[in-house]
Amino acid sequence: MGRRKKIVQECEKLMDKPEQIRNIAIAAHVDHGKTTLTDNLLAGAGMIADEGEATRLMMDTEEDEQERGITIDAANVSMTHEYQEKNHLINLIDTPGHVDFGGDVTRAMRAVDGALVVVDAVEGAMPQTETVVRQALREGVKPALFINKVDRLISELQEGPEEMQQRLTDVIGDVNELIRGMTQDMDNVEDWTVSVEDGTVAFGSALYKWGVSLPSMQETGMSFGDIIELERADKRMELHEKTPLSNVVLDMVAEHFPNPLEAQPHRIPRVWRGDADSDLAHQMRDVDDDGDVVFMVTDISMDPHAGEIATGRLFSGTIQKGQELYVSGTAGKNRVQSVGIFMGGEREELDRGVPAGNIAAVTGLRDAIAGSTVSSLEMTPFESIEHISEPVITKS
Ligand code: GDP
Repeated sequence: MGRRKKIVQECEKLMDKPEQIRNIAIAAHVDHGKTTLTDNLLAGAGMIADEGEATRLMMDTEEDEQERGITIDAANVSMTHEYQEKNHLINLIDTPGHVDFGGDVTRAMRAVDGALVVVDAVEGAMPQTETVVRQALREGVKPALFINKVDRLISELQEGPEEMQQRLTDVIGDVNELIRGMTQDMDNVEDWTVSVEDGTVAFGSALYKWGVSLPSMQETGMSFGDIIELERADKRMELHEKTPLSNVVLDMVAEHFPNPLEAQPHRIPRVWRGDADSDLAHQMRDVDDDGDVVFMVTDISMDPHAGEIATGRLFSGTIQKGQELYVSGTAGKNRVQSVGIFMGGEREELDRGVPAGNIAAVTGLRDAIAGSTVSSLEMTPFESIEHISEPVITKS
């Protein structure tokens, strides 16, 4: 069996195990390293051949696969990652890097349960960091922090261990200040903050592919001093091999971000104002794959072969080909033409249905727009997604 087929099979298996699924977004101020980190994770998970080549996927070159027409969708990528002897399906939704697209960032947040916030160690938290953290928390999405470009503190700014530690502590403090300010009305504010001690903060260099967290340092035995020494001596390859960024970050994702079963009970009341005692409410909170279909569209993209693809989060039921579904705000129903999942950055059509808790890619929903609620029974649609406007910041 080819490598690609094996990965598809593995993803299909994991689709039915919600406790092993993590739906996440990476969000950052422009230039803080979101793209470099994403490439890193995909390469680390074996989904692309090498960093910086997200379009050259590692796959079989069999004829039929060429003919099928491969869709690269940079906005949605999925990968598998083994953590504590269990494989995990990690669905990563891209958030646009530019503040202009605030609306899209929020839409992406609706589909996910965890947000990896990337902050440049040199620049610190910036206006868009605040925006993405606000968007995540408003949607009930749990943040974790990756402090990037730490190589620059060591090699360019020549900071010593104490200075560096102080700077990292300041970044964490600033991010937590934002979080505390935004969660005052929520239960248990400290559950939303990030910390080195509980493993919800990692730092490193997306460019040189190394990263560390407290759990990873305990595992590898690497100290702050070891890292500084290797980085200073330009032994970045060794650093990458000893403590690869993708492992550290994906372990953090698997350990600290909630799976759909943990996330949906508290997320549904935040984003849906329908009757909390109804069967439908229970089905959504319980991620019931036998329940009514409830699918929230977060993105519409165009495929030259398949036409319009509606991507979104399935909160309840199993979505499959041939179903006739209501689309909020429109009359009549649309018929599902195909359903698929993402694998690497490609959409893979499946012969079977996609169960609740997953990110699905659906064709045939011609009336749907980003933000539509698509369902097998008429229902109160999800809360509309608030757009947070802010001043446009241009790249220098
Ligand atoms: P995005 O706008 O958040 O997607 O940022 P990119 O991933 O495109 O990175 C912006 C710039 O920062 C690029 O020139 C990257 O090469 C650089 N960069 C990203 N990560 C690192 C890092 O860890 N260290 C250094 N020194 N540069 C980095």
